[in-house]
Amino acid sequence: MSDSVYYHQGCPVCGRMLRIGVRLLGQRVYCQHCGGGFRATDETLEDDEGAFRAVSQIQEDRIEMLLERASEGIVNSTKDGQSQEEDVAQEIV
Ligand SMILES: [Zn+2]
Repeated sequence: MSDSVYYHQGCPVCGRMLRIGVRLLGQRVYCQHCGGGFRATDETLEDDEGAFRAVSQIQEDRIEMLLERASEGIVNSTKDGQSQEEDVAQEIV
């Protein structure tokens, strides 16, 4: 089915619009009009990739925030433990 998916890219040699199978993306293709070779790239798909990177960056930030909260929770529980020790120390004194 992927063979039937195409996108359009202008030939950098002759300027004509070409229909290129998406499975050829990133590969070297040849213009059917002038025979010029060029690399198949789809700006739209590259934009999607950039958006995906932005989303993954947001997810990383969220993970960092969660890790920060988790470490804060650990610090708080450690403080509780210390305060309990202090109470015990006061009882001894
Ligand atoms: Zn061409």
